Formats: sequence, C-alpha cells, structure tokens
Amino acid sequence: MAQQTMRGMRLGTQSLESERGVNYSARVSHSYLCKNEHVSEMVFSADAEIPQTWQCKSCPAQAVLLEDGKIVTLDASEDKIPRSHWEMLLERRSREELEEILQERLDYIRARRAGGQADL
Ligand SMILES: [Zn+2]
Repeated sequence: MAQQTMRGMRLGTQSLESERGVNYSARVSHSYLCKNEHVSEMVFSADAEIPQTWQCKSCPAQAVLLEDGKIVTLDASEDKIPRSHWEMLLERRSREELEEILQERLDYIRARRAGGQADL
C-alpha cells in the first residue's frame, strides 16, 4: 500500500508550503483592550492596515486598539465606503487585461453552448 497518510496538523499555525526561499515579512504586534479589561495581542504584517477594533479573545466584547498604552480614538472614517470588488480588480489588472479575460471567457462559453453543453 503506497497510500500516504496526512499527518495531523494544526490549521493556522503551520504552513504546508515549503519555507525555502521565503522572505518573511516584517511583523508588528498590537494590543487590543476590551471593556472587560482583557488585552488581546495580535500580530500583523508590518505593511498591513491595522484595524482599530478587534474581537476580544477572552469575551464577546469588541476590543479597541491600544497605542502607547492608550485606547485609540475611533475615527468616524471607519465607516468609509469600502472599495468595491471592481475597484480592487482594477488595481490588479488593467482594463485591457480585463477585456482579454472577458473575451476568453465569452469564447469559452460560446464554445460550450455550440457543443450543446448546459451552461453551468
Ligand atoms: Zn474581553
């Protein structure tokens, strides 16, 4: 029997990817304090946008980011309009690339239809 067994792994703590050739990005640690005075320590990538609130790890309350040991003032821009999928897409692809992808997709669908296959 050549069947391979999967070794038990804890999701989230280990990666299945090889670590060779990987440059770890810088990490920063931030503390969040909830109204029940639990401090939750969170580690973020250094270039990540740090959220002002986080779900407390110890209770259901919302914890607020601590900066220099003090709770940050939540700014109203937290409700700023989130970017749409379309806007995020445009950041990754040019319009020309999108046209090309659309055309490929349309050709694929047309080919399937011509072949009498149901379009799923
Ligand atoms: Zn808490």
